[in-house]
Amino acid sequence: AQEALNKASSLKQLNAFIEINEELSLAQAAAADDLLAQGQGDYLTGIPMAHKDNFVTEGWKTTAASKMLANYLSPFEATVVEDLRKAGTVNIGKLNLDEFAMGSSNETSYFGACLNPWDHSKIPGGSSGGSAAAVAAGIIPFATASDTGGSIRQPAALCGVTGLKATYGAISRWGIIAYASSMDQAGIIARSAEDIVPALDRICHYDARDSNSVNYCLADKNEIGRVQAQYDNQRRQFDSAGDKPLSGLRVGIPLEYQGDELNAEVATAVKAAIQQLADLGAEIVEISLPHTPECIPAYYILSPAEASSNLSRFDGIRFGHRSTEADNIEQLIARSRAEGFGHEVRRRVLLGTYALSEGYYDALYVKAQRVRRLIADDFKRAFAEQCDVIVGPVSPNVARNIGDNKDLKAEWLGDIFTLSVNLAGLPAMSLPCGFSSDAKPLPIGLQLIGNYFKEGQLLAIADRYQ
Ligand code: GLN
Repeated sequence: AQEALNKASSLKQLNAFIEINEELSLAQAAAADDLLAQGQGDYLTGIPMAHKDNFVTEGWKTTAASKMLANYLSPFEATVVEDLRKAGTVNIGKLNLDEFAMGSSNETSYFGACLNPWDHSKIPGGSSGGSAAAVAAGIIPFATASDTGGSIRQPAALCGVTGLKATYGAISRWGIIAYASSMDQAGIIARSAEDIVPALDRICHYDARDSNSVNYCLADKNEIGRVQAQYDNQRRQFDSAGDKPLSGLRVGIPLEYQGDELNAEVATAVKAAIQQLADLGAEIVEISLPHTPECIPAYYILSPAEASSNLSRFDGIRFGHRSTEADNIEQLIARSRAEGFGHEVRRRVLLGTYALSEGYYDALYVKAQRVRRLIADDFKRAFAEQCDVIVGPVSPNVARNIGDNKDLKAEWLGDIFTLSVNLAGLPAMSLPCGFSSDAKPLPIGLQLIGNYFKEGQLLAIADRYQ
C-alpha cells in the first residue's frame, strides 16, 4: 500500500486521484496485516486498490467530481466498498471521473481533466478516467468503476487496460451515486481478465438494499464464488479442447459494428483480434443488431430523464453546495444548483426535465422506452439463435486530444458501440487488442458482450485471448 501511495504521489500530474488520505490507507493496511498474521486473509488481503469517486466511502470524501459535493462526507459506505474492505483490500484514494459520471472524456470533472498515461495530451476516456489511468499507470492493480453507457469499457479501451461491467442487477448499486438508475452498474478495471476475477467475484451478490439486485443463487444468498466458479469451469472446458481451446464457441460479429464511423486502425485491430479468436477454434458468425443506431437517441433521452430525477436531491438543503446569495427558498435552491452543477450536468438535467414534461412524455420518454425494448430484443434473438458471445469495437476512435470536444454530436456518437449493452442490461468487457500508429502509440480496445450473468465466461474467453 505504501508503494502504491508513493507511486500515486509521484504521478500526481496525471490527476487520476481526487483525494488521497495516507493515514486512512495505512490504517487499512495495518488491519490487513493483522488479518494475515491471524491466518485469516486470502488473495485479496493487503492488495492496494482505489474507488471511483462516485462510490460512497467512510472517511474519504465522495464528490462525484462535482462542486456540488466537493466537501461531502458520507455517513455510510457503498456495498461494494464494504465488500472489498472486508476482504482486506487497501483503498488508497478516490479516483477522478466526469462530473456525476456524465461524459466520455473525464473533462467534465470539477477537479480538472485526468490525463492518459500513454500520452499526456490525450483524454483517458470516461467517465471512469481516473480508474483506467491509475491502473494503466501501474499505481494500483485494480479499481472499482461504474458503467451507465460505457464508462468502464471506453476508458479501459483508451488506456489499454481490461474492464468489465457486470449484468444489471449483479452488483449492488447501494452507495453508488445515482446517474441513470435503470442502467447504472458497477464493475472492475484491472490489467488483465485474470486480475478482475477475484475482486468481481467478491462484489457480485444479492443485496436487499438495492431494489433491482438479482438473487441469482436462490439457495445461497451470498453467491460469493459464482463468478469464480463459472470462470474456472469455462477455463477447464477450454483446456480440455487441446490446441483449439475455443472450439464450439460461437462468436457473433454484428454487421452494424462495422460502419463508416469506425476509424481504420481500430477496424484493422478488431479484425485481427477476431481472426485470432477464429485461430483459437471459435466459430465466427455474422449477426445483425438492427436497432443499434437508435441506441444513441434512446440513451440520450432516458439517461438525462433519470438523471434529472436523481439529481433533484441536490438542492443545497438536504445535500451539497449552498449558495450564500439567496433571499428566499426558491432562490436558494435555484442558485445552489446553478453554482454547484457544471455545464454538462445542467444540460442533462434540462434535457431530462424536458423529456419528462407533460406533452412531451409520450413522444420522447415513452417512445425511447419502446426503442429500448427493441434493442434488448435484438440481443435476445442473437443469443438465442446464433451466438454465445458478441465481439466488436469499444470506441470508434483512439483517445483524442484534451480540449478537443467542441462537437457534442460527435462526442455522443462515440458511444454507439457501448450504449446498447446498458439499455439491455447485459454484461460486457473491454480488453486491449492493439495500438495505433501514432508517434506515441495509443491503445485500441476489443469489446466482448455476453448473455445475462455470463461474466465468468467472458473473463475466461478474454483470458484465453490475452
Ligand atoms: N458517455 C456516456 C454518458 O455521458 C456514458 C457515461 C457513463 O457510462 N457513466 O452518459
